[in-house]
Amino acid sequence: MTVHSTIPFNCALPVGQEAQYLQEALLSGTSAGDGPFTRRCHDLLSGALGVPRVLLTTSCTHALEMCALLLDLQPGDEVIVPSFTFVSTVNAFVLRGVRPVFADIRPDTLNLDEARLPALRTPKTKAVVPVHYAGVGCEMDAIMALAREQGIAVVEDNAHGLFGRYRGRWLGAFGALATQSFHATKNFSCGEGGALLINDASLIERAEILREKGTDRSKFFRGQVDKYTWVDMGSSYLPSDLLAAVLLAQLEARETIQARRRAIWETYAGNLCGWAASCGARLPIVPEHCEQSYHMFYLLMPSLEVRQAFIAHLRARGVTAVFHYQPLHLSPMGRQFGGRQGDCPVTESVSDRLVRLPLYNTMDEAAVSRVVAAVTEFAG
Ligand SMILES: *Cc1c(COP(=O)(O)O)cnc(C)c1O
Repeated sequence: MTVHSTIPFNCALPVGQEAQYLQEALLSGTSAGDGPFTRRCHDLLSGALGVPRVLLTTSCTHALEMCALLLDLQPGDEVIVPSFTFVSTVNAFVLRGVRPVFADIRPDTLNLDEARLPALRTPKTKAVVPVHYAGVGCEMDAIMALAREQGIAVVEDNAHGLFGRYRGRWLGAFGALATQSFHATKNFSCGEGGALLINDASLIERAEILREKGTDRSKFFRGQVDKYTWVDMGSSYLPSDLLAAVLLAQLEARETIQARRRAIWETYAGNLCGWAASCGARLPIVPEHCEQSYHMFYLLMPSLEVRQAFIAHLRARGVTAVFHYQPLHLSPMGRQFGGRQGDCPVTESVSDRLVRLPLYNTMDEAAVSRVVAAVTEFAG
């Protein structure tokens, strides 16, 4: 038997000009935020997605915090969020004193179930946060129609979905606001980073101010005011240009990165469907009208026990597979907001059974084949 190294779940290695751009940024002497590389990232993203204004942030978490500030959310307001998501989707609003209202997910795409929204809406509902799980679009037609009708803001947590589309339109281009993550585990990464996408142009000026410590420094840089001063509340949400340099290289390589991720995803899907049918596992469901971003390949196993045995089976064969979100409504914090067992049955069932396979930009064919072989040796 050959001895193999363990295949990690994720690995964030450079794919193009990262080191060169980073060196350029370092040697430019202008490594603070909003330098030339940051501007190039802004232009690339807003051009590629057709979003009026894009602002790099220090993380997706911080971009979400900016959304709560921009929407002027107050203590007592309510925001509808999926229970099946990362904590930041919710924490950003909780920090403003907002009460999160947890919605269950659809059993097919594992996205926020739009059919639940009418029953969860109250006169205090100010926003809904669809998370495009695994980079497959939420049912944005229904969500946008309901939000428009009820005067509710839509904030897309698009951490997984950059360059995915729903009915031909880019994810992140629907809500008044949308957020991206460039954390090392995402499709495009600079270690830690994020972006705020602003589709509602009336929010652009205030977003620039909040991000620049409550000052009109952005206007000053554009020559629109002759000195900058304190004009609103704010914080520091802009990343160093060093990080933007690394990110720009990743974004410029987007076609290569996405093509590679797609090839891995399709190899898994093509090679695992027969095995899945024979052992009661379910592969991801991607509706016809969704072009996914190939962020993740997950399997839904028949039970928690089988899932745990499957993870151990893969670990013994040098393959790192991991579970994902625990239901937020059942977490200690979620329970403080009234979350109870049974509130979100699909979330509760899925989170026990879901397992994610390794998928990263620099994963080679041999590693993909080893994962397929290890998975198909599992008999359930
Ligand atoms: C990764 C992630 C975040 C947080 O991103 P950071 O950039 O690490 O703050 C938020 N929401 C979702 C759905 C994520 O997957």
